[in-house]
Amino acid sequence: MTHPSAAPAVRLRNITVRYGARTALHEVSLNVIPGEFVALAGPNGSGKTTLIRSVLGFLEPSEGSIELFGRPLSGLSVRDRARQVAWVPQEEAPRDNVPLEEYILYGRYPFHRALEGETTEDRRIARDLLRALDLEDRAADGILSLSGGERQRAVLGRALAQSAPLLLLDEPTSHLDIGHQLDLLSRVRELAHRDGVTVIAALHDLNLAAQFADRIVVLSRGRCHADGPPSKILTEALLAHVWGVIAERRIEPRTGRPYLIPRRLLAESSTAVGTDAFGPIHVVGGGGAASPYLRALVDEGFEVSAGILHLLDSDAETAEALGIPATVEVPFAPISPAVRERHRALLSQARAIVVTPFAVGPSNLANLEDLGARSAHVPIFLVTGPSIETRDFTQGVATRLVRELEAGGARSVGGIEELLRELRALAARAVPAGAAGPDRGAP
Ligand code: ADP
Ligand code: MG
Repeated sequence: MTHPSAAPAVRLRNITVRYGARTALHEVSLNVIPGEFVALAGPNGSGKTTLIRSVLGFLEPSEGSIELFGRPLSGLSVRDRARQVAWVPQEEAPRDNVPLEEYILYGRYPFHRALEGETTEDRRIARDLLRALDLEDRAADGILSLSGGERQRAVLGRALAQSAPLLLLDEPTSHLDIGHQLDLLSRVRELAHRDGVTVIAALHDLNLAAQFADRIVVLSRGRCHADGPPSKILTEALLAHVWGVIAERRIEPRTGRPYLIPRRLLAESSTAVGTDAFGPIHVVGGGGAASPYLRALVDEGFEVSAGILHLLDSDAETAEALGIPATVEVPFAPISPAVRERHRALLSQARAIVVTPFAVGPSNLANLEDLGARSAHVPIFLVTGPSIETRDFTQGVATRLVRELEAGGARSVGGIEELLRELRALAARAVPAGAAGPDRGAP
């Protein structure tokens, strides 16, 4: 099913599609090469279904043009289109309670001549598909007797029976449980990579899209907002801009692909206290003392930095997992001048500094030494815990530095809750109500 021509499987040139006065797609351009699996992502109403229906020829763009495998879509007959494009619609409500096998056989229609029935080859294809889709024992049952998930698989089966080189799927996993979602998407990926079928699938689950697709095209209010490989597309900024959601980005260690953990709506956190617009909070720690604070601050929407941590230290791992910029030194080594310089740069950008109760030895004493210079400029919070004397492995130097910070106005806080209260109050004072900070463009 590979195409000899070098033409893209799908080419959209600047298409604009309108429903009456409403413009659903604005000047969208897209090239999809044969065998590529492209996920179309975007919030509800962003134009995914409209794009798919345009490629099917159901909607005519008011401007721009569409080509399939190098031929203008408008020049293809209905039968030609059916041979080239198979489609799994977003909502399919079959009207007749036809047996499942017959339903799958509908997909073979473009191959029949007028008045000719299906062949034994058609039957074989339908049977194979039923088996592959785990629906073999339902072959004789009426399509209306299937559950939502079974029906969605049946609709896929009918589309696959078409053996078309281009497959369009409109939210094909919306009624499926997670096992069948993974199953369907791995099947679809295999069709693309093994059989050279070109796939465009509207998927509103960005994480699933990133796991399976070669490329993600993000639509936002009818425009193409981003287009690229998952590693480039899945960013916290994208979720904030297009979905208005604050998320954390992680990397799936086995696949190396990114995924996002949504935390909350942008509006909730930013209009209330402006934590995300406040600026970085720098956390000093080590040996795990900082980890709960790093998590709580990120959860609260603050930008966070950390340091100086030794590589392999659990606080360094927490910082990395949360995507927190941190200055990191090799294990057990004394802190080098270059690392110290980077740390000072982070300190100088911080809007507040949090010192967690970490054990201080000669190798990390620099963490405390560099704070004194900042105490006249930003609030420093000392989290109470085991007294500094019991954590001081520097013959009293660390204790003296902490006492100096206290004398310089550093405030003691009793734990996470008290710290968050103090910081929220700072942020609320810094960001006046109504001024939501920099352009975060929530839709
Ligand atoms: P998505 O599939 O991303 O949810 P759609 O392509 O269905 O988005 O819709 C894009 C925009 O076009 C939305 O604003 C939607 O309300 C509008 N729209 C979709 N179908 C129609 C229609 N038949 N008539 C008028 N407006 C429509
Ligand atoms: Mg849709």
